[in-house]
Amino acid sequence: MASSAYRNGAHGGSSGMKVDRPVQVANIKSSSFKSRLTPSHSSGSALRRSSPASFASKDGDGVPGRVRVAVRLRPRNAEELAADADFADCVELQPELKRLKLRKNNWDSDTYEFDEVLTEFASQKRVYEVVAKPVVESVLDGYNGTVMAYGQTGTGKTFTLGRLGEQDTADRGIMVRSMEDILAEISPETDSVSVSYLQLYMEALQDLLNPANDNIPIVEDPKIGDVSLPRATLVEIRDQQSFVELLRIGETHRIAANTKLNTESSRSHAILMVHVKRSFMGGDNIYSNENGDISHLAKPLKPLVRKSKLVVVDLAGSERIHKSGSEGHMLEEAKSINLSLSALGKCINALAENSAHVPIRDSKLTRLLRDSFGGTARTSLIVTIGPSPRHRGETTSTILFGQRAMKVENMLKIKEEFDYKSLSRRLEVQLDKLIAENERQQKAFEDEVERINIEAENRVSEVERSFADALEKERLKCQMDYMESVKQLEEKLVLNQQQRDFDVFTDSNCIGQGPGLSAAEELVELKKLLEKEIKLRKVAEEEVKICKRQQGQDRQSEAGGSVEVLKLHKILENEAHQKKKLEEEIIILRSQLLQLTFEADQMKRYLDGGGSGNAYTGLDSSMSPFRHPQLKDAVNGQKASIATLFEQVGLQKILALLESDDANVRIHAVKVVANLAAEEANQKKIVEAGGLTSLLVLLRSFEDETVRRVAAGAIANLAMNEANQELIMAEGGISLLSMTAADAEDPQTLRMVAGAIANLCGNDKLRMKLKSEGGIKALLGIVRCGHPDVLSQVARGIANFAKCESRASTQGTNSSRSLLIEDGALPWIVQNANDEAAPIRRHIELALCHLAQHEVNAKDMISGGALWELVRISRDCSREDIRSLARRTLISSPTFRSELRRLRIEY
Ligand code: ADP
Ligand code: MG
Repeated sequence: MASSAYRNGAHGGSSGMKVDRPVQVANIKSSSFKSRLTPSHSSGSALRRSSPASFASKDGDGVPGRVRVAVRLRPRNAEELAADADFADCVELQPELKRLKLRKNNWDSDTYEFDEVLTEFASQKRVYEVVAKPVVESVLDGYNGTVMAYGQTGTGKTFTLGRLGEQDTADRGIMVRSMEDILAEISPETDSVSVSYLQLYMEALQDLLNPANDNIPIVEDPKIGDVSLPRATLVEIRDQQSFVELLRIGETHRIAANTKLNTESSRSHAILMVHVKRSFMGGDNIYSNENGDISHLAKPLKPLVRKSKLVVVDLAGSERIHKSGSEGHMLEEAKSINLSLSALGKCINALAENSAHVPIRDSKLTRLLRDSFGGTARTSLIVTIGPSPRHRGETTSTILFGQRAMKVENMLKIKEEFDYKSLSRRLEVQLDKLIAENERQQKAFEDEVERINIEAENRVSEVERSFADALEKERLKCQMDYMESVKQLEEKLVLNQQQRDFDVFTDSNCIGQGPGLSAAEELVELKKLLEKEIKLRKVAEEEVKICKRQQGQDRQSEAGGSVEVLKLHKILENEAHQKKKLEEEIIILRSQLLQLTFEADQMKRYLDGGGSGNAYTGLDSSMSPFRHPQLKDAVNGQKASIATLFEQVGLQKILALLESDDANVRIHAVKVVANLAAEEANQKKIVEAGGLTSLLVLLRSFEDETVRRVAAGAIANLAMNEANQELIMAEGGISLLSMTAADAEDPQTLRMVAGAIANLCGNDKLRMKLKSEGGIKALLGIVRCGHPDVLSQVARGIANFAKCESRASTQGTNSSRSLLIEDGALPWIVQNANDEAAPIRRHIELALCHLAQHEVNAKDMISGGALWELVRISRDCSREDIRSLARRTLISSPTFRSELRRLRIEY
């Protein structure tokens, strides 16, 4: 693969310092250890950062990022304290100047500048923060990152990187601290971290998490220049503890492996790979401007994943480069041990010198680290040195290695992928939710329909029952009261009769007494008695008269004579009124029930049919003579219900509801009437009962388009019947229809109106009246709607009219020019004679043939362009009968014939 991955970036330091002549160099000194992209975090272990989505990624363009190098000095160990007590350290650090002085001898020293200079007192925490933390932050932002320690054995590489800090937390090294920061930053729901831990020894990669796995191949993706170790164990990390445990296991395996191989850990490279995967919503629509502000554009966010990798490398001791072989190793082994380290040195030299060839393929280490030097990763190198003057040589070469590495320029790039997996997962979840919701709603809908049905049925039967009960009770009560009063009167009468009889009887007894009186006295007495008797009789007669009168009155009270009976009558009247009201209510409920059943049925059909059916509900479309075929079944069922309703309720009552004060009732009533009108058997009854008048009145009601539409439909149906047609005309129907035609907007209403007029147009007797009352003009006005169904009705009306005219001409009852032509229908006819809609075309073609049959129309037809249409019809019409009718018509008209001759058209 191209070695260019390891090449210096455009910002490479050809102006950088020379390795062998250490001087201060401005560009190095001035550059911060931290990247330009990374927000500065000078202290505190917790990362305070925004979500990864808020960090810019400029697709394709990298961000220059030089390899940062820090030097760390190990304190003198016990041996050095004792043995070198009299000698000064071979280095002198000036951390505030970020400089290191390497003593050559007592009077001379070389000065080197690093990105960070860490003294023997530098804490592990500080080392982590200046060396590794910026890299860890980059990794969390989606960049690859490398932290590597280079130095002589015993100078503190493992101390810096690998300390677990179990006894003293302050000792924790870079590996442990990096993971702490990563785990603190990611969110477990959307992100994941997994690690591999490997050892590279003698060009063999061993899995420290699974020692049996000891020759892991490196796989390179030539397209994206990525390297991966698909066979290495990858362990997902969920908490810090398990990570520390993993490091411990790795360390144990490392010791065991080294014992087996008879080597020591300082001769192998330890490589920890931390894979971070973060999901977030983002995309092209987010970018940060120069000030670092985040701008959002309107596009919706898309799910993205960023995969990044932190590689922590604890290199083998650098002294081996020089000393191997001389320490008694076999040559091959020595070569192998050092191959990777010396290849790394060569690559860094080549990169530092901007050389054309960078030998990355020379070793496994350089292949593994291709992204870390000259690649797209952010890389920090820590070079560790000891203070002992005895190792000045090693220390010098370590320092020079670090200096060269500082010149290596990387191009940081984020690898962002569209997260298809999470999107499809989310969509699936959403879909499932919607499906469940839909099912729930359908069930609820069905339940609701069921409930309303039951409730309506219950209410109807309850009302019927209570009404019947009340009626029966009232009837019984009335009957009983009436019987009672008749009985009382009879008793009174009998009593009166008895009284009178008794009086007469007592009087006669009195007469028979007093035998001692004289005749004169007797006479006087008798006279008195007689007078008394006469008086009594008069009184009695009077009483009888009163009684008789009373009796007569009582007799009359059979129809409401007495006060009580009157009261009862009032109650009865009230009851009757109540009954009427209840009956109305029943009708409304029934029609509502009917409507609901129909709508539920429609909805069910619609849902069953996957929504492909006609979702247009209501009775509206079924009441016209132009029904939708899909509604046929529903309509049949409905017809039966309507018929039942018709029988149970009675037409008069339904028609009366058309004038109800309640708009709702009116709508229901008109729908019911429209349904009834669809049946030929009912049409006569409706017209006779005055339904037509009510419907015509409704046609002019603007309050509700539905009422108007349904009324027009009902009239259209009634107009099918010839017997009704004259009635409609007589009731001023044509002018009402014309008015509706002029101001209605709804195509359905217009279709019904046009249909009604078209039906009237087919009646010979109405021809003149239709024209004089503006029927033809109304029909022509409707064409503004443009809906093919409406136009088809208009065309049918014109054809009907033309047919009547031609019939009249043939019969000799008409000799004048066509009323259609007079009303200006010809241009529309000619224009639409070849309409693409078959029904329109067919009607117009017929109309033209009919018009052409009457010679008086010929001239107008020629000047109006109708002749051409006739010729076309006679030749191209798909219907044989129309074609030959047109031909016959053309041949039989002298005017057409001569015009055709003039135009040299052969016939
Ligand atoms: P390396 O990995 O480079 O061979 P080690 O990390 O094993 O070196 O260190 C060698 C010894 O020096 C160890 O005993 C370690 O504890 C000690 N040591 C290294 N660096 C420091 C330091 N900065 N402070 C104190 N002790 C240190
Ligand atoms: Mg070590």
